[in-house]
Amino acid sequence: MLQIDEQYIVSNFDKALSEGYIRAYYQPVIRTLTEKICSVEALARWQDPVMGLLSPFLFINVLEKYRLIHKLDLYILENICITYNQMKQMGLQLHPFSINLSRLDFDEVDMLKAISDILKKYKVPSKAIHIEITESVMLDNTAYFRRIFDSFHDAGFAIFMDDFGSGYSSLNVLKDYSFDVLKIDMRFLSDIGSRSKKILASVVNMAKAIGIHTLAEGVETKEQKTFLRNIGCEMLQGYYYAKPMDGDLYVQYLADTGFQVEDPDENHYWNEVGQINFLSPDPLNGNDFIETENGDYGFVRENSSPLALIEQSSDKHVEMLYRNQAFETNLQKVGFPSADALVDVINQTQAAYYPNMDEQINSSIKTGNVIKEDHFVNGMYFTYCTKCIAYTDKKVMIAASIQTYGSDIDMSSNEVFDTYSRALIDTFDHITIIDPAKNRVVARVYSKMAYSQDYSNMPLDKSLEKYANDEVAAEDRQKFLDFVDPATIRNRMADKITRYLHITCGVKCANGSFRQEDIRITKVYIGNGLNEDGELYMLSMQAIEKK
Ligand code: C2E
Ligand code: MG
Ligand code: MG
Repeated sequence: MLQIDEQYIVSNFDKALSEGYIRAYYQPVIRTLTEKICSVEALARWQDPVMGLLSPFLFINVLEKYRLIHKLDLYILENICITYNQMKQMGLQLHPFSINLSRLDFDEVDMLKAISDILKKYKVPSKAIHIEITESVMLDNTAYFRRIFDSFHDAGFAIFMDDFGSGYSSLNVLKDYSFDVLKIDMRFLSDIGSRSKKILASVVNMAKAIGIHTLAEGVETKEQKTFLRNIGCEMLQGYYYAKPMDGDLYVQYLADTGFQVEDPDENHYWNEVGQINFLSPDPLNGNDFIETENGDYGFVRENSSPLALIEQSSDKHVEMLYRNQAFETNLQKVGFPSADALVDVINQTQAAYYPNMDEQINSSIKTGNVIKEDHFVNGMYFTYCTKCIAYTDKKVMIAASIQTYGSDIDMSSNEVFDTYSRALIDTFDHITIIDPAKNRVVARVYSKMAYSQDYSNMPLDKSLEKYANDEVAAEDRQKFLDFVDPATIRNRMADKITRYLHITCGVKCANGSFRQEDIRITKVYIGNGLNEDGELYMLSMQAIEKK
């Protein structure tokens, strides 16, 4: 490694600042779920005319030793302010910047005042600046630094704990200070083998339990990125996305690559979304750490629960930003080829199944509670749970879980359903599914009436005519035919606010006598909503008098 005389650093430092040899380089921080830039870290670089490019490792220690580091850090802040205003002038989407502070900064000057003065001078808001501090800063003098951090927080700055895991006292630091973000350096893990993965997953899990956001830095490979995404790490930074860039280059990079930048007004929204624990067996309720009345406690551990994050914009467009394997598997069980197919269905407002899903999402938003509803698709019953976890005036994020009636649901639910479905059948004397547009009887589902199979084997209009003649009481015949007229069902339904049409007629029972039946036509959603079956209606009959 290049050896540099300490004295060279010290004696050339002022000149390096005034000549602009030292500058901030910028490395983007990426929101894992959206892959948009959500902030940028400023890192000092010294491009020396004699020595070439000097990395921080060569001069930070020296500047600390000679008590000059605060000058560097405030200078980097000025660089940021200049870039910020340049971006503003160019009409680019603004985002926050991180600066790195050294513990010695606080010994030399009133950092909060010095930083605030610079921001005031350049008219940059404090929420545009994140403060990064390594844990070693806080090892001693806890009360002193706690006061300092509180005052930074009060002034609107977010505080990031840099290089988590590198020091000796990480857990104490977590306990004693309130941080906004934990930066986990991938380079502290020599490989990304199974031990490292377990450590990372546990750290992310723990951070969520105490309400701290997670950022992994030093992310270099796609494998690392995929793993970090799957465990719910919220932000990523590293060569995989971009190396630190000179300010002008960075602004150019933003303008050229079209890399999208997150709207800082959505910061709150993404922070809320980030709190969802992907690793929890019960992510919607957040029941991860349980403490029972008799004093037992522990983390609930089971197979991971199906989880998806679905974002709905105000124009009702839906995007699925995340789903785990368990969610995908269960979706396939109920007949969707993939999660993308589900999203397509929800986005085609014409698709038959959409209204039910939409209703459920609406009640999740309205109540903020976990909404649990049973659905029936492709001959499979499943329970779909949704919860609104964050919203802005433009969009909402829904966490969703799906449980099929099979091995992953307990027996008692099966039994409940069994009894329940029999009760349903008991309620109706007759059910057929009809398709008026195609003039066909789709299926005779069930009948306790005098219903011959012939009715199913002829075109719908003929079938209804024959049924009216043979089975409906003479005085109600015309009324019945008008009611079931296939040509007008669609329009009559469209006018109605209620979900079904109904009349009362005398109809022949299995024993040949006539009984007053409530006859209904209800629009039904069958299949996976892709609407291959056209527009279907259920024709049902229910006896009015008690049996
Ligand atoms: P840091 O704050 O943890 O910064 C992250 C370091 O990791 C940076 O090194 C960055 O260039 C490097 N890095 C980012 N992504 C990757 C990756 O994917 N792979 C690898 N191998 N490295 C990656 P850099 O710029 O050399 O800075 C080193 C340290 O020096 C910083 O660590 C920070 O603690 C300190 N530092 C840098 N600039 C300043 C400054 O302006 N003031 C103070 N006080 N310290 C600074
Ligand atoms: Mg840093
Ligand atoms: Mg770091």
